[in-house]
Amino acid sequence: MLAKRIPTILPDLTFNEALEVTKIHSIAEILIKDRPLVVNRPFRSPHHTISTTGLVGGGINPKPGEISLAHYGVLFLDELPEFNRKTLEVLREPLEDKSITITRINASLTYPCNFMLVASMNPCPCGFLGSIGKQCTCTPDAISKYIGKISGPLLDRIDIQVEVNQVKYQNLAETKNIESSKDIKIRVNKARKIQQERYKDYGIYSNAELTTKLINKYCKIDNKTAKVLEEAFKKLRLSARAYDRILKVARTIADLEEKKNIELKHVAEAIQYRNLDKKYWKN
Ligand SMILES: [Zn+2]
Repeated sequence: MLAKRIPTILPDLTFNEALEVTKIHSIAEILIKDRPLVVNRPFRSPHHTISTTGLVGGGINPKPGEISLAHYGVLFLDELPEFNRKTLEVLREPLEDKSITITRINASLTYPCNFMLVASMNPCPCGFLGSIGKQCTCTPDAISKYIGKISGPLLDRIDIQVEVNQVKYQNLAETKNIESSKDIKIRVNKARKIQQERYKDYGIYSNAELTTKLINKYCKIDNKTAKVLEEAFKKLRLSARAYDRILKVARTIADLEEKKNIELKHVAEAIQYRNLDKKYWKN
């Protein structure tokens, strides 16, 4: 439910982004009739039976796959462990490079794929592991097989990993004091504007696109904060990649608060979002 509402808080597409998205959708021949320009961020949610070609692109006349159709938008993979493990592994490179090269005998073709990966999964095949009301009926073997579909390196590339507990009906019906999507979107748009302005000389639009060099320049933290991050790094046995990613998320949290500098609380919050790393991947 949460994932499906993400489009309601995505920042507005800039004109340049819209042009890029429209080009890809035009090549894929999925533009909506009478609407020459894509004006909303794409939200793609392919079924778990999708082939590798369908996901990353290819074919005799190489067409863009779902990851490119989700360029500047969201690729939502519901029930992540249901996807073919090999298909999921192919996501690793494009998640880093934000582009995908499809090689054919005579030529190679590169499509952009700067998407936000959103995925959901149950704690176990039956879905009730850790639940208060119902008992999980899965064997430990079935659970580890299910979790094992998500590789460590793939999980490492997921910046925000959150466990969501069952919601009680009363809480679901409770609507007061909840920030609306409309209000959240205003904050998101503000944060994105800050980033566009900050990175205007580099041809990038968001913190997610920062290279290590730019992280060093724009994600500076004080000594005290660096110490906390170092501790977490050792405790959670995070990778160098996760380290960079935590700083980018902290930068975004600071931007959402319109803070110039990354503070200790921003880094602490970003670290909290890595809670599946330790739980599911114990190598
Ligand atoms: Zn179960």
